[in-house]
Amino acid sequence: MSVRPLNIDPSNCFIAGAWGAPLSGETLPLINPSDGSTLCEIARGQAADINAAVAAADAALSGKWGKATAAERGRLLAKIGRAVLDHVDELARLEAMDVGKPLKQARADVLALARYMEFYGGAADKVHGETIPYLDGYTVYTLREPHGVTGHIIPWNYPMQIIGRSVGAALAMGNASVLKPAEEACLTALAFAEIAHKAGLPDGALNVVPGLGAEAGAALSAHKGVNHISFTGSVGVGKLIQQSAGTNVVPVTLELGGKSPQVVFNDADINAALPFLVNAGIQNAGQTCSASSRILVQHGVYDQVVTAMAERYGQLRTGPAMADLDVGPLVSNRQKEIVEGFLSQGEDLEVVGRGQIVTDAPTGGAYVAPTLFTDVAPDHALAQKEIFGPVQVIIPFADEAEAVAIANGTDFGLVASCWSENGARQMRMARALRAGQVFINNYGAGGGVELPFGGTGLSGHGREKGFEALYGFSVLKTIAARHG
Ligand code: ADP
Repeated sequence: MSVRPLNIDPSNCFIAGAWGAPLSGETLPLINPSDGSTLCEIARGQAADINAAVAAADAALSGKWGKATAAERGRLLAKIGRAVLDHVDELARLEAMDVGKPLKQARADVLALARYMEFYGGAADKVHGETIPYLDGYTVYTLREPHGVTGHIIPWNYPMQIIGRSVGAALAMGNASVLKPAEEACLTALAFAEIAHKAGLPDGALNVVPGLGAEAGAALSAHKGVNHISFTGSVGVGKLIQQSAGTNVVPVTLELGGKSPQVVFNDADINAALPFLVNAGIQNAGQTCSASSRILVQHGVYDQVVTAMAERYGQLRTGPAMADLDVGPLVSNRQKEIVEGFLSQGEDLEVVGRGQIVTDAPTGGAYVAPTLFTDVAPDHALAQKEIFGPVQVIIPFADEAEAVAIANGTDFGLVASCWSENGARQMRMARALRAGQVFINNYGAGGGVELPFGGTGLSGHGREKGFEALYGFSVLKTIAARHG
């Protein structure tokens, strides 16, 4: 049965199952990046609202939500997933307007959110403890229990997908969550809370407080009533979150982006690789933690790959989210300035491919044409820094050893891929590449709801997605019973 149509008021917070204005009464404008207009006002939640949300989550743990069995939680999450699908068009439009992503990409994000709910709904009652052989006269076993209140601070690039992987797994394990969406894009977080509540999620199990990072976000990460924090966002803020978590001695999961390489060897199936090489760089206008911003190509196929990628870049069209082209605007004019700053650092480099911005794109929109640089030195700023825009660099290499050295030669380690038809090389590369996920002859593998995801180095630590996330969102208790 479908839930009633979306009825959200983004100038409110969603706390304890009810909409309410932030205690300060203040709001912030939410900007449409496709044209620079103000979409609506959103709540400027602050510490007092975070206090109320944490209290509501805590109350949920000792109420109906805390008493729900794993099977009941799973059934409810699966129902929420179906309710999300009832609203696929509305959610896709909200996300497209808010983030600026082309409608078809936003629609794919809705489907991913529903799939996360289905996956974690199905998994909720399948997380088992163990029995441990021990001393004579003892029975020892382990239980996986929720942390309690989980804080989720998420970015603007994939709100629905990140809610799915993080809040979905937390709720599956019986935690109660406080979600602080990004100030640039919070509409689908509010819509999701409404949908989940209407589908039967008890009051307080999920609370949403929009607001600024330095206010609502900082208050959530420093709150003594929060027992686990998951954060996806920039390296700088990730460090602050880890410091807050350290002060309160609570576990933290950080997913902080990357500079992910695809490594193309002479023996690769170039035609199979091409769509992945380009799409992994320009999807969501390159504003993807796992974007592949470095393409490493062996000398023997270098010219062929450069020519083919450049040709594809020439076909890319950038325009308003609702026009549903290849690439939308960046999330904000601030982000556009950041990306343009990087582009100006590439003035010494050769631009081999450039997409077009459609002529009727509104002048107030945050548009940046996709740009492909070639012959980039591995230590160039554009090959080292996370740009978070539709920019890729191509780097030549001679042999496997050099490929590994270049691929691993940044501070990040999130995702990598190897394109080769040689099985032994595939296995060697899979081991040698420094990344939380390595793809062989593909990149991204269909969204990967089931695949554990997370990084090393400045890409962060902890794993989300897949079954692994359920371990992260639970605590292991060991029970040793002496019975003689
Ligand atoms: P970006 O620079 O790409 O916007 P951020 O890391 O600044 O990425 O933002 C990711 C999330 O972190 C957003 O929800 C933002 O509001 C939040 N945030 C930003 N600053 C802080 C902070 N000091 N403490 C907690 N959360 C923050």
